[in-house]
Amino acid sequence: MQKLKLLYEGKAKKVYETPDADLLIQEFKDDATAFDATKRGTIAGKGVVNNKISARIFELLDTKGVATHFVKLLSDRDMLIKKVKIVPLEVTIRNIVAGGMSKLLDIEEGRRLKTPVLEYHYKEDKLHDPLINDYHIRALELATDAELEEISSSSFTINEILRRFFEEKNLILVDFKLEFGRHKGRILLADEISPDTCRLWDKATNEKLDKDRFRRDLGNVEEAYQEVYRRVLG
Ligand code: 5GP
Repeated sequence: MQKLKLLYEGKAKKVYETPDADLLIQEFKDDATAFDATKRGTIAGKGVVNNKISARIFELLDTKGVATHFVKLLSDRDMLIKKVKIVPLEVTIRNIVAGGMSKLLDIEEGRRLKTPVLEYHYKEDKLHDPLINDYHIRALELATDAELEEISSSSFTINEILRRFFEEKNLILVDFKLEFGRHKGRILLADEISPDTCRLWDKATNEKLDKDRFRRDLGNVEEAYQEVYRRVLG
């Protein structure tokens, strides 16, 4: 499948049109940003790692009945996806307190939650993706009741599947962010699932093996992405 016009360039990905109006190509870059792009850098090889890990996870979710935008892997950095209209929500699922939740509620990172927490954030960089709830979403017509039901139940299902998947790789799935899109009247899981969008800690040592190494200047950033790649695809 051939890349035509560049439709969109984001912080970590480019999206191209293809000769098929229903299909797009998502290209993964090595560029990394954090804190609303106030911190910028490059993580060598990240694009390849995130493309291939995302593809592996989308394939896994497909076998478990979760509808995703993934069609097929095209190359090291490119995947073919269904064209969706992104729902302007970032859905976060947390199993262990870290990052935003640790800050918001002043709870030490690492506390295991009794039940998973689902958060909705309004996807708007200039507002710093504020935390909102389902009443905001319905009142502002960001998604319908039926869509929200589909998004939330699918997010919890994905958490159970991924928790088990990463556990087998000796990785703890601390939290992650999902995005969904509309395609021909259906809600599909979109975007990516990778060490950019998940917090993954080593099961034995709790070492951080994800984008927090870049965000927090912890060093060995490339090595962490390669380690997750090796465990997921090795
Ligand atoms: P937090 O709200 O604690 O900053 O993030 C929760 C989880 O969602 C983390 O795994 C984080 O990587 C992911 N996440 C939340 N917002 C974003 C975002 O804008 N970009 C990326 N790459 N990940 C995000």
